[in-house]
Amino acid sequence: MVQNQTDPAIISNHRSHDHEQCQSEALDAARLICARRGTRLTEMRQRVLELIWNGHSAVKAYDLLEMLSAPDRAVRPPTVYRALEFLLENRLIHRIESLNAYVGCPSPGESHVSQFLICENCAVVTELLGQDIARLVRAEADQHGFLIRRQTVEVHGLCQQCQAA
Ligand SMILES: [Zn+2]
Ligand SMILES: [Zn+2]
Ligand SMILES: [Zn+2]
Repeated sequence: MVQNQTDPAIISNHRSHDHEQCQSEALDAARLICARRGTRLTEMRQRVLELIWNGHSAVKAYDLLEMLSAPDRAVRPPTVYRALEFLLENRLIHRIESLNAYVGCPSPGESHVSQFLICENCAVVTELLGQDIARLVRAEADQHGFLIRRQTVEVHGLCQQCQAA
């Protein structure tokens, strides 16, 4: 379940650290990565990234669509999906498959396996950047002569804040 951005639990999660800094660092990193690759972080792409980085919770495309649309300006789904596609391709965000939602990557621009802790209460997603799990899975897969194409670990549970509440 993905709650919207004004959920009090999510806000309290944001306040436990300087999230404005997270968000501005993520946007700076995205600009840098795009400039280096010669791609363009258009206004729409940047706006979508900014909205995803409103917090550390997974955001659904539908919610992005709603946040981007104004009464006098409807944003069409393909516009949002194209922006998401661009952000995924440039490794600025991840898709959380079990939620069909998106989060910002704290280590953007690099290729890495997707490993997430997902809070079922507040939808905050923590990305695990350690390589031990991936290494173990690779070793086990090797023993089966299995060629890994895509590796995703999505662990559901309760974050520290939600356990305390
Ligand atoms: Zn933050
Ligand atoms: Zn990542
Ligand atoms: Zn939580």
